[in-house]
Amino acid sequence: MDVIGPETVVTLHYTLKNDAGKVIDSSRGGEPLEYLHGVGEIVPGLERALAGKAPGTKLQVVVPPEDGYGPRDPNGKQEFPREDFPEDLTIEPGMQLIVEDEDGEEVPCWVLAADARVVTLDLNHPLAGERLHFDVEVLGLREATEEELEHGHAHGAHSHHDHDDEEDADI
Ligand code: ZN
Repeated sequence: MDVIGPETVVTLHYTLKNDAGKVIDSSRGGEPLEYLHGVGEIVPGLERALAGKAPGTKLQVVVPPEDGYGPRDPNGKQEFPREDFPEDLTIEPGMQLIVEDEDGEEVPCWVLAADARVVTLDLNHPLAGERLHFDVEVLGLREATEEELEHGHAHGAHSHHDHDDEEDADI
């Protein structure tokens, strides 16, 4: 395979800035990012821009919120009693938690504040509503392994993802 397409694992370096030009995240100076193309492991706007690209390609992509982390929901902020959460769990602002809604769906949330009585969660991703400015260099490609396709994500040599979500529970 010469270019990025479905069932490709892509290695790339990226820098992500917001509209103000502030660096929010970057792989440069560390391990490059590896992702499995075509499964939504990265935001849709960036994934779309990378399709068909070959190693060595450098590109700059501006991703609007609807193709990034979604629009910001003004009602996304919610308070919960601290006792709803496991006692031994350390809850700190900025942390991501997975909570179950009334229908038993798992919903990712971000902790805005926490004290002994109340935990304030935001259902919005911290980058919801932001236009994302990516500066990307495609370093390499390879075919995804069976296991990666099954899991729906890349298993980089240096990735330390834990298999604690349900679909990975057999590992
Ligand atoms: Zn996995």
